[in-house]
Amino acid sequence: MIRVVAAPWVLPGLAPGAPAASAPAIADGAVALEGERVRAVGPRAEVEARFGPGERLDAVLLPALVNAHLHLELSHMKGWVAGGEGLPGWIQLFVAARRRTREGEPEEAMGMAAEDLVRAGVAAVGDISNTLDSLAPLAAAGLGGTIFHEVFGFTPERFEEARAAARQVREAAAPPPGLRVVESPHAIYSTNAAALRALLRSGPGSLHLAEDPAERAFCATESAGPFGRMYATLGAALHALRITGRSPVDAVKAELRPHHLAVHCVDLDDEDLRALAATGATVVLCPRSNRYILGALPRLEALLAAGIPLAVGTDSLASAPSLAPLAELALLRREVPAVAATRLLPLAWNGAALAAPHVGRLAPGAAPGVLAAPLEGARPPDPAEWLVSTFGAEERPFTWLARQRPGPERPE
Ligand SMILES: [Zn+2]
Repeated sequence: MIRVVAAPWVLPGLAPGAPAASAPAIADGAVALEGERVRAVGPRAEVEARFGPGERLDAVLLPALVNAHLHLELSHMKGWVAGGEGLPGWIQLFVAARRRTREGEPEEAMGMAAEDLVRAGVAAVGDISNTLDSLAPLAAAGLGGTIFHEVFGFTPERFEEARAAARQVREAAAPPPGLRVVESPHAIYSTNAAALRALLRSGPGSLHLAEDPAERAFCATESAGPFGRMYATLGAALHALRITGRSPVDAVKAELRPHHLAVHCVDLDDEDLRALAATGATVVLCPRSNRYILGALPRLEALLAAGIPLAVGTDSLASAPSLAPLAELALLRREVPAVAATRLLPLAWNGAALAAPHVGRLAPGAAPGVLAAPLEGARPPDPAEWLVSTFGAEERPFTWLARQRPGPERPE
């Protein structure tokens, strides 16, 4: 049974063979669906000639999105932590606030936040978890992607203890197909050098990197800066344990691979950009969180010019107002007007970075998840611009035409 859906505009997602570019929008287009799978995408006349007349939707059709960096388990902390003081100050406020968490509070908030992700058009996540408590709500909402199970600890003893405990939690977990769990580091300032390098060498992972200039001070200066002061009790041992380099990127570049996500990357100089590009790692931008915590934004144009693979995330509700990836792109579109919406949307279609390569492209045979963004009578000349700057900026809810399904693609 083939279902044909026609609309004034179809955005096919990533261009075939071009992971960082949008395929051109199709005016008066259609999508043929067989169950959750895409059979064909193209001009309505061509699709209807093959599969019969379609139902007409007043909408922009597009593949489902990714949120490549969030912390679902912090969803109950929305509005709990004031920003504007920079990362070291924010972390101290955050740790104190998290202690106020009441029994059952995270679970309730995670269920609602997972449903919000679906309304925001998200099919695949890069979720950061300390507990793996986010696995059940993500699975229940039908979300795929990767859960990065964070392990940290500054002294070798604390780290090994945390790593062993995390391994036990992971062994007891049963992720559904399409949702993978991997061990992951947290940041250069929360793990000693040897452990951080070992985690990065062990396989795919996600690392908060160069979020704040304090990280540069931590690895590049004698005093180790504000993060060094957090470890005042370690005294002399801090200097032997910490990772060093002329910058956070420099400190870890030898270990970064294409299967890594480097999250935030706000404090980058030109040498960092070149070094990051050479690693092939994907940089995940969370601009609303950066603006809230630091009052700064990543160097979008320089990252694009360097050819660095990019994705978009929201960070947690403790530092971002929602989990909607298009709202992040809307901020970038507003703040960096030289970068068009068609160049921003690939950041929200980067399923490959989350081990969900079927997400982000309306490819025949695949089940990427298909969304409709209702136009409500609007007739935008540029559907990508409308999607980001109107639909996305206003956080209007998507309608799902087909859900994502992992698994091998069937030939047409
Ligand atoms: Zn984060």
